[in-house]
Amino acid sequence: MFELPDLYPLYKQYMRWFSYPPTRWYFLISCGFLALGVYWFGYAKSQGYTIKGFIKYLFPKSIYTHASTKLDLKYALSFPIIGGLLFKPALGFATATATYQYGYKGLEYIFGAQAFAMPESGWTLTAMIVLFTIVSAMAADFCLFLQHYLMHKVKFLWEFHKVHHSAEVLTPLVDYRVHPIEILTFASTKGIGIGAAQALFNYMAGAPIHIYNILGLNALLFISYIFGHALRHSHVWLSYGTILNHIFISPAQHQIHHSVAEKHWDKNMGSMFALWDWAFGTLYVPKEKEELVYGIPPEDQKEFRSLGNLYLQPFRNNTHSKFKLAIVLLLLGYFLYFAIENLVQMIL
Ligand SMILES: [Zn+2]
Ligand SMILES: [Zn+2]
Repeated sequence: MFELPDLYPLYKQYMRWFSYPPTRWYFLISCGFLALGVYWFGYAKSQGYTIKGFIKYLFPKSIYTHASTKLDLKYALSFPIIGGLLFKPALGFATATATYQYGYKGLEYIFGAQAFAMPESGWTLTAMIVLFTIVSAMAADFCLFLQHYLMHKVKFLWEFHKVHHSAEVLTPLVDYRVHPIEILTFASTKGIGIGAAQALFNYMAGAPIHIYNILGLNALLFISYIFGHALRHSHVWLSYGTILNHIFISPAQHQIHHSVAEKHWDKNMGSMFALWDWAFGTLYVPKEKEELVYGIPPEDQKEFRSLGNLYLQPFRNNTHSKFKLAIVLLLLGYFLYFAIENLVQMIL
């Protein structure tokens, strides 16, 4: 069993492997090329094959000057960017560490001492690292799916998730239109998946195990990001095709997730893999390009058009659930304390 202090450097590395940086320059360039492909094969005929036509396609004035985008910018700068940077890794770190500790102890309790010794080289080591790379990415992604699924299916949580769905146009800024309560659940649940996978593989290998990474990211996450992750919150319709859309969530499928049309509600809640939606019966694979209107029904929409309301409206809408609200606020306070404590230890 590894001592907790020994785990800090490892977990620092871990949280980087599973971090969420689709705004790194090479991901943005890949998104630019993918958008160019969509423009070239789908739109250029009507707009002309020119650089000006492409730029106009990439940054439509009606979307980038929309009141919803201006609100996204104000909201992102008010807390989510800095809050996400500070608290997401610390919260993920906290839940990953706790899950790892209890997971590992639980495995020892059930199955006895460690299963195998860590192979030093050869195909067993390679196979183990490949498997760990895939399983850890899938475990983290499944936890994100479950978190998102509950955000939609539990009325109390939906009031907080509505903030994200209240965006009326999609730009990458919508990434940050997430209520602080959701940032909390998002970061913590991802850590549970990471910690659980690590407990299982470290237990089997009998030593800390690494993963294959590309430029410091889990290789699977890197592949998912390079294929247009940052286009999910955009107007660029990129579908991977019927077969791949059953395995990976394409940008078009996340855009459908934001649609106000009833047939699209609670569909495509996965982050990287579409397999979870497929298994839970919430997968929606488009047959062709669909014209989408984004947001929530009009009677709810008007409640989410100011900065203050993005923060406060979910609480107002949940005032009848005072007990749940009190628990959430207590948890928030506890997790923030925990996160700050971990943050200090990670920095020191
Ligand atoms: Zn959602
Ligand atoms: Zn979204």
